[in-house]
Parts: sequence; C-alpha cells; structure tokens
Amino acid sequence: MEFSEQALVLKVGRFREIDAWVRLVSPVRGVYTAFAFGGLKSRRRFLGCLDPLNHVRFKVRRSGHGGYHCLTEARLLDAPMRLRGDPNRLGMAVNCLKFFEAVQIGPTGAAEAYALLRDMLAALEAAEAPSPLFPLLFRARMAFLQGMFPACGRCAACGAPLGGQEAVCHVEAGRLTCAACRDDNAPGVRQRLGAGALGLLEAAVGGDACAWAACRPEAGAAREFSRTVDLLVRYHMGLAWERGGFVRA
Ligand SMILES: [Zn+2]
Repeated sequence: MEFSEQALVLKVGRFREIDAWVRLVSPVRGVYTAFAFGGLKSRRRFLGCLDPLNHVRFKVRRSGHGGYHCLTEARLLDAPMRLRGDPNRLGMAVNCLKFFEAVQIGPTGAAEAYALLRDMLAALEAAEAPSPLFPLLFRARMAFLQGMFPACGRCAACGAPLGGQEAVCHVEAGRLTCAACRDDNAPGVRQRLGAGALGLLEAAVGGDACAWAACRPEAGAAREFSRTVDLLVRYHMGLAWERGGFVRA
C-alpha cells in the first residue's frame, strides 16, 4: 500500500551506514516513524527534506509483513530559515515540539494538533522578538485541545462572566471560579489569577500563535499564568518540564 501525504519532520536518526529513520507527524496519522532507505546517501531522492522542522510531501509505502512505513519520495514544501539560525527561537520551537511529543497524539485529534504545530512554527519564524511566554501558551493550548484545561469564560460555580476580574483555578477539579466562589474548605491546590493572568489564559485557549508571540504581559501576570499551566499540566497530563525535557510527573 502506498500513499502520499504532507508531514512535519520531528526527528531524523541514522541507522546502518546510509539509512535513516524519520519521526513524522501528519494531519491524518498523527506521529509515526518511517524509514528512508539510502536516505543519507540518495541526496537526489530526498534532497534537503530530511531535516527536523521541514514541511514535506512524502510518498510512503507501508509494508504488508512488518507493517513498517518506508519513505519512497519527498518534496520540500517549506522550511523555517530564521528559526534555525536563532538559538532563542529554535529553543522555543524545540520546547513546544517536546511537549507535543510527550502528549502522544494518535490519529484522533491529529489534524488539530498538526495545524497548531504549523501555526506555532510560522509564528516563531515571523515574529520580530517572540515572547518568552510563547511555549507556555502553546502548552496551555495543547492541554485545552486534549480536554485537560478549563474553559475560562465563566465561573464554573455561579456562571458569572470572569473577564477582566480576579479568578481562582482549582487545580485538581480543573475548574475556574470567580473570587466569590472560592471555597477554602475544599481540599486541593488553588492558584489565584489576576485579570492579567486570566487574559493570558484566554489568549492561550482562544487566541492565535502570532498574538502569543507578540504578548508582553507584566511579570506578576506571567508568573501566575505560568504557575497555573504547570500545575494543570502536571496534575492532569502527568507531565513536568525537568532538565531540558518533559518527564512523567
Ligand atoms: Zn462564581
């Protein structure tokens, strides 16, 4: 069976002398690994395609016996240039990709996640000076797409609109309430969110990646927002950022 599809290259590794394995994400199949036999030698067949962050149209053959994927042709659609040459941008992109991989997206939800990855890379490529908060906003959006992040329009207890006010995140319950509905007797971790941090939460859930790159929140709001995302991701997705990678918390 052979098919053709666009995919984003996540990682490339060598095995044997001239062969490569390629970790890909496609909008149809999610993340999978394919082999490029002769990929490190046959420059013509895979010309400039087998590098991380490339957006490529691949022809893929699926073997009947082992069930493995084998790349037979590749055509480069686009590749980020500025991002590769700038350690700061690249670091943010790698952080986003590591989180994406740790979440382990299957075919369900792959199209949405793929679109988000493409937007993330385009925004980091285009922005003049991407906000340091960018990876956190991306993480929050991924968590939201996975149903692991609270909706932030209204208080989960009384239904009052939250916009522009103070709110409280009840971490274990995965809910946001207004300050009046804060229940100090209930067990669990609570994180306060001022209006600025709540605005960041709204931007993460509903805004686009270009707006994330441009955001310049004040330090207190950034801190509350970061802490909220870390707590929710750790509790509901079991992931924590440690020593340059995501580990199971
Ligand atoms: Zn309320």
